[in-house]
Amino acid sequence: MSNYKIETKCVQGGYTPGNGEPRQIPIIQSTTFKYATSEYMGKLFDLEASGYFYSRLQNPTCDSVAAKICEMEGGTAAMLTSSGQAASFYSVFNIATCGDHVVASSAIYGGTYNLFAVTMKKMGIDFTFVSPDCTEEELNAAFRPNTKAVFGETIANPALIVLDIEKFANAAHAHGVPLIIDNTFATPVNCRPFEWGADIVTHSTTKYMDGHGAAVGGCIVDSGKFDWMAHKEKFPGLCTPDDSYHGITYAEKFGIEGAYITKATAQLMRDFGSTPSPYSAFLLNLGLESLHVRMKRHCENAQAVAEYLEKHPKISWVNYAGLPSNKYYETAKKYMPNGTCGVISFGVKGGREGAELMMKNLKLAAIETHVADARTCCLHPANATHRQMNEEELIAAGVPGDLIRYSCGIENAEDLIADLEQALAQI
Ligand SMILES: *Cc1c(COP(=O)(O)O)cnc(C)c1O
Repeated sequence: MSNYKIETKCVQGGYTPGNGEPRQIPIIQSTTFKYATSEYMGKLFDLEASGYFYSRLQNPTCDSVAAKICEMEGGTAAMLTSSGQAASFYSVFNIATCGDHVVASSAIYGGTYNLFAVTMKKMGIDFTFVSPDCTEEELNAAFRPNTKAVFGETIANPALIVLDIEKFANAAHAHGVPLIIDNTFATPVNCRPFEWGADIVTHSTTKYMDGHGAAVGGCIVDSGKFDWMAHKEKFPGLCTPDDSYHGITYAEKFGIEGAYITKATAQLMRDFGSTPSPYSAFLLNLGLESLHVRMKRHCENAQAVAEYLEKHPKISWVNYAGLPSNKYYETAKKYMPNGTCGVISFGVKGGREGAELMMKNLKLAAIETHVADARTCCLHPANATHRQMNEEELIAAGVPGDLIRYSCGIENAEDLIADLEQALAQI
């Protein structure tokens, strides 16, 4: 599949049936797998032989879908997780532990920020958050001798800041650590971070990849390019024997292409068990089959809506990287020449009350915490996800009181604009 274009990989990647086998990925709804001898079973447990034994670790349906996302991103190994949060957690915890440090962009999903700044902090891992717009000097100054990774988001949810991936990759590599990129909003259809130097990619597949609001899920993909052994002293978990797996050294046994994901499966999935159900993986695959078609429409609709809103007298500001007036327009053009995503944000004149009134009048755009769905939805963060913050805190968080996050679905753009038009006419 590796020579095919992204559209072909979306439809046919990850699974090629043999003679007389099902055309669609079979749902292997089985927790366990049968073997003839316990000797063979022993080899599976030692990671000496390959084969399935328990679906908490690996399942054929989930593996086929992970293989598809792996091909789409251009990686060498991938795993599904039960949520995007689990993917973010594993991606870092696989290489950083108590006493370690991670550099992260401050423009990341709120759930990821909390995971890092509160929960993983309690586990003894320190995070330094840097502005995505920082200079190279400021970025380099954030590193410490115990830094193990750099983390950022292609297009930050909900700030919609576009990351300069190369700047972050260069700094990470200069300090001998990998760059992990959450590529949820761009999807591999619009951006493939490995082509710009990222080493690991994570996803909340709950968003565009599923695309139909049907199944929560996540994914981690390894580019197979980061040389763990060259930085042995930083990554003992990958480069020294794992006593919990009979002394296997992942980086030796599974090489540069397979070590990271094998370790994440063998240790983290074994111990934490955030595994998706085969049925959820099947639903995710249905979404992936049309991802390239949907992303194009999401972007076209968002562009049309953003251009319409920018000219509207009742709108005070619009944030969408597809607008030439946007601060990240050039960065977006470089990393995502075919479009960014379908999510825009804007402010209504009349502040919070204006925002509330307008949203109440929308007929097509449903009020939801969800984003990146086939159906248009919107959220007023100041009254929902960021409700506990006062006006100053909201501004510091980049989420002013008048901000509406509007996630363009794949409906007809003229209908969406007419819906906005009538809602704005009432305020
Ligand atoms: C939603 C989201 C997550 C968390 O994913 P879940 O599937 O909800 O656990 C992580 N990153 C980004 C960018 C997201 O939008």
